[in-house]
Amino acid sequence: MKNKPTLNFDNTYAQLPDVFYTRQAPTPLKNTHLVHFNHAAAALIDLPPLDVDSLDNNDKQLLNALNGSRLLPGMEPLASVYAGHQFGTYVPQLGDGRAILLGEIRNNAGQSWDLQLKGAGRTPYSRNGDGRAVLRSSIREYLCSEAMHGLSIPTTRALCLFSSDEEVYRETIETGALLLRMAPSHVRFGTFEYFFYNNRHEHLQCLADFIIDSHYTDLKYDDNSNNNKYLRLLETVISKTAALIAQWQSIGFAHGVLNTDNMSILGITIDYGPYGFLDTFNPAYICNHSDHTGRYAFDQQPKIGLFNLSCLAQALLPLLDNESQAAAEKAKTVLSNYQNQLLSHYACLSREKLGLLEQRDEDHSLHADLLAILAENQIDYTLFFRKLSKIPSIADTQADAQVTSHFNTLRDMFINRNAFDHWIDRYRLRLLVENSDDVERERKMNRVNPHYILRNYLAEKAIRNATEQQDYTEIDTLLTLLQNPYDEQAGMEQYAASPPDWAQHIQVSCSS
Ligand code: AMP
Ligand code: MG
Repeated sequence: MKNKPTLNFDNTYAQLPDVFYTRQAPTPLKNTHLVHFNHAAAALIDLPPLDVDSLDNNDKQLLNALNGSRLLPGMEPLASVYAGHQFGTYVPQLGDGRAILLGEIRNNAGQSWDLQLKGAGRTPYSRNGDGRAVLRSSIREYLCSEAMHGLSIPTTRALCLFSSDEEVYRETIETGALLLRMAPSHVRFGTFEYFFYNNRHEHLQCLADFIIDSHYTDLKYDDNSNNNKYLRLLETVISKTAALIAQWQSIGFAHGVLNTDNMSILGITIDYGPYGFLDTFNPAYICNHSDHTGRYAFDQQPKIGLFNLSCLAQALLPLLDNESQAAAEKAKTVLSNYQNQLLSHYACLSREKLGLLEQRDEDHSLHADLLAILAENQIDYTLFFRKLSKIPSIADTQADAQVTSHFNTLRDMFINRNAFDHWIDRYRLRLLVENSDDVERERKMNRVNPHYILRNYLAEKAIRNATEQQDYTEIDTLLTLLQNPYDEQAGMEQYAASPPDWAQHIQVSCSS
């Protein structure tokens, strides 16, 4: 007999004053069934692996609690309130319009995880929405959050995914779904903005204290005689956001809807909507086809990060100093570090992508010039770096057939061969100067340059199988590959390929 799976609830958000949320039970969906259960995320809350092919009564009860059909003892479901700048414009009242925080788990290691059910029905913050999420976009979020984790990029996690017999109306009729996601906290920049713009400064302070006490405990004991604690909070969020966006830029990830209500106070990636990973290197890539001006284009993300952090800083001003001019000066000073922090993370990641050991003045131009020719020649960003790792540092005319073939395959990706020849000569010279060891360099490059990424067409295939045939095997296959994206897996070569012709024009909208 298996032990009954137990969840140890320790709800801290529900203890905050009730201006922070509305208590709200989930509204179950019709005939819910499990699409996928993620053992890796389950382990974070001490749940044993679930044998989905032979569920016992205890398992079924657990799943019924995770899909919002029944409450477990200890759950205190709520929808939190927040505001936010959406496409640059302040919207005073947003909030969890279709996500419900079921409760927080305290695991055996003492870590806390929000269990948040997305698609759980209407809440007081739903505005005109139906409170639901569709299977298509829930699969996209499920896969991407785990793919980001596989790439070591801070993110919410996905515990399980459910489909249902409920019809949900978007541009067409779609299938209603539920996604159980987890994070140490889902508090957003917009949560702070809500209390600032409503002139509730005592609650603003309460929220800042809550975040510091539960997530930035190092700051808790800071000397607070001059409100230093809150400035350090801002400084920490700036650093974390700079590091996060540097990682996005380095891996080729575009979030798509970088509104301040989609920015985490913990500096993790949240709220996956019309995101996209670059196929060919196109800095102006816009993944969200509703983003007509390209505000959230791939290469705009660092700048948008600063805009969003400035909104957060604005909201924190009352906590930084009693005197408004002094508060503004303090905020300005810490914000001015953002760009350098981001650039220095990015430079470090770029050096690793190229397999460089030393830091040299010419690194920036070597990398920037590479990106320029990748863009000009429409080269697949991910494939390029994996292939580059196999190129030896010395151009050897006697090289064996395999080395020559690797070199030619890489070179043949370029329309402008001269540009490639020129760049690769510079790169090889650089490797020689630092006495690079080819075998070691290839090994290291392949630890930072993934073999598999969640290309849109791969997600699309999994979505089509799931929505048209209720076949979920592709979700499982992708998850297995993306949880270990650096390791080539036997028989899976087609998953590393650039998009086929049918997938060239997939468009992803905001509707979800
Ligand atoms: P998003 O662009 O998905 O981050 O959503 C922005 C805001 O709209 C959030 O407050 C969501 O909770 C809310 N929202 C999005 N879709 C729905 C929906 N179908 N029903 C209710 N609220 C929604
Ligand atoms: Mg959102």
